[in-house]
Amino acid sequence: MGESGEPGNVRAPDRPGAPAARRRAVRDAHRLHAARALCRTNPLRREGPDAPARGTGQPGVQAPRGRTVMRNAHSPLSVTFKIASRCNLNCSYCYVYNKLDDSWRRQPAMISDEVIDASVAALRRHCAKSGQRLLRIVFHGGEPLLVGHERFDCWCRKLRSLDDSVEVRLALQTNGVLIDDKWAELFAAHKIVVGISIDGTPDVHDAQRVDHKGRGSYSGVLRGVEALRRNAVGFSLLSVISLGSDPVATHRHLLSLGPAQIEYLFPDQTHDTIGALRARHGPTPGADFLIPIFEQWWGSGDMKVRVGPFMAIVRAILGGVCEVDFIGNNPLGYLFVEPDGAIEGLDVLRTCGPGLARTGMNVRNHDFSDMEDHCKFHYQVIFEGLSLPRGCRTCRERSTCAGGYLPHRFASDGGFDHPSAWCADILRLFDHLRSRLGVPPAETLLRREALDSLSVDTEGVPA
Ligand code: SF4
Repeated sequence: MGESGEPGNVRAPDRPGAPAARRRAVRDAHRLHAARALCRTNPLRREGPDAPARGTGQPGVQAPRGRTVMRNAHSPLSVTFKIASRCNLNCSYCYVYNKLDDSWRRQPAMISDEVIDASVAALRRHCAKSGQRLLRIVFHGGEPLLVGHERFDCWCRKLRSLDDSVEVRLALQTNGVLIDDKWAELFAAHKIVVGISIDGTPDVHDAQRVDHKGRGSYSGVLRGVEALRRNAVGFSLLSVISLGSDPVATHRHLLSLGPAQIEYLFPDQTHDTIGALRARHGPTPGADFLIPIFEQWWGSGDMKVRVGPFMAIVRAILGGVCEVDFIGNNPLGYLFVEPDGAIEGLDVLRTCGPGLARTGMNVRNHDFSDMEDHCKFHYQVIFEGLSLPRGCRTCRERSTCAGGYLPHRFASDGGFDHPSAWCADILRLFDHLRSRLGVPPAETLLRREALDSLSVDTEGVPA
């Protein structure tokens, strides 16, 4: 290898045994190249208060290297608070109100001070046990802004001051309609990362995101976005793919609103429901929508606005670890607290059937780490990770996609032991991005191996 270390400079010696030597040299070059390309995205090498400790051997500490994140009931967690169980909108695809689970009807309209206090105590205990120094909390609903400015401000203060040794980062997901200047000032004061749900141009958005009288909500969302911009509060956009709509027009419109990030989501479908969509929109409607947007993003030469799911897929293809929930089959590492204090697993499982998010636990009388004794399924999903679905075991993307998002694997016949209902779309998307990056599946494995071996090399060496 030349001193520059670039793969293009590799020349294997011309002598007997040359093919093996050449293979080794190419492999070494790949390793160095992969390390350079990924050192900024590999969370195993990240800095900061939540960086995994190296080789401490303490229970509850994340694994210092390798792709498998070793978690247990005392591992660091993120928590999403469903602070309101009602919503000012009634979007047609909503998994809370318009799918199979109606448990929201039995929830109080909003979380109480008492549940917040019990949650703060439970989080304090969890941080003490896990050694967690960075805690991510998300406010969600229903529509979280229905709780009003004063309560929200008070709860943010309580959560942010739960322990002097723990940095608490707050985020919020809203439909945006209620955002005004006072909300924007609160978001700025508490450094809240704001996500707004919007599905595209006014006509596309208003076709599904409607109020309880069936009226579109786009104009209200736009007023909310303008309030954020007036107050210099950054925001990201969460957009459920509108199958059959114009992807490039959607993307251009969302960009024009000035977000820091856009995240496109596959609609929540299971194997029980996706057939009707395919009959209407063709065999890979999700990929049909996403690929033209990827081409826009990739070809623009300006990646200032981060666009999902491309960031995560590119990182996976390049051999990096994905800390996302829709590919990779890693333990989720997050759970939910409902308005009545119930501790629940992944809320989108409501798409699959009634009661599937339930654990039987409550912040009033349980620690988060009690989940192992109360609900083995959610314990596995959150802390251990599930097995790869049987149908994925011979797939070329089994180590990157690894089954896709958990709710999308569901079929009433066989539960979650299926490839994603969006499998065909995911494969097309991976194939397209791989062709743009010039990285076949075998090279992804080489790059990952390179990163792992570099982690071994630096084990025990002070940072
Ligand atoms: S692409 Fe399909 S078969 Fe392959 S890992 Fe993903 S869900 Fe499984």
